[in-house]
Amino acid sequence: MEYDEQNVFSKILRGEIPINSVYEDEYALAFEDINPQAPVHLLVIPKGSYVSLDDFTMEASEKEVAGFLFAVGHVARQAGLSGSGYRILANHGTDANQEVPHFHVHIVGGRNVGKMISLKDK
Ligand code: 5GP
Repeated sequence: MEYDEQNVFSKILRGEIPINSVYEDEYALAFEDINPQAPVHLLVIPKGSYVSLDDFTMEASEKEVAGFLFAVGHVARQAGLSGSGYRILANHGTDANQEVPHFHVHIVGGRNVGKMISLKDK
């Protein structure tokens, strides 16, 4: 899948859409989800142009992959979730209903987020 420079997270990286940023470094940007599904719902995105985890793990350098994952852990700790716990998830493609075609990891917590995501048929 070709990367769409007009996707919303690409615009966020270019500073064209405002966000509540919680962390930024050379590999990642983290911000609050606009439609939170839990008391804490953060998104962590890589700085590079990758459509999803599939694309990221095929095309990104080891430094980018490592830097991004370190950022995810840091953001969760910074949000105070290490003690109580949290879930990370990343949607890829149609069956996962990925909405924004720029790779992102959701961090959700701040309450018990249940056993697992809903896998109910639509
Ligand atoms: P996906 O379904 O692609 O894994 O998740 C996309 C997420 O991006 C959703 O949770 C949605 O609420 C969030 N989102 C979409 N547009 C914006 C936006 O403009 N700003 C922020 N902060 N989050 C957004």
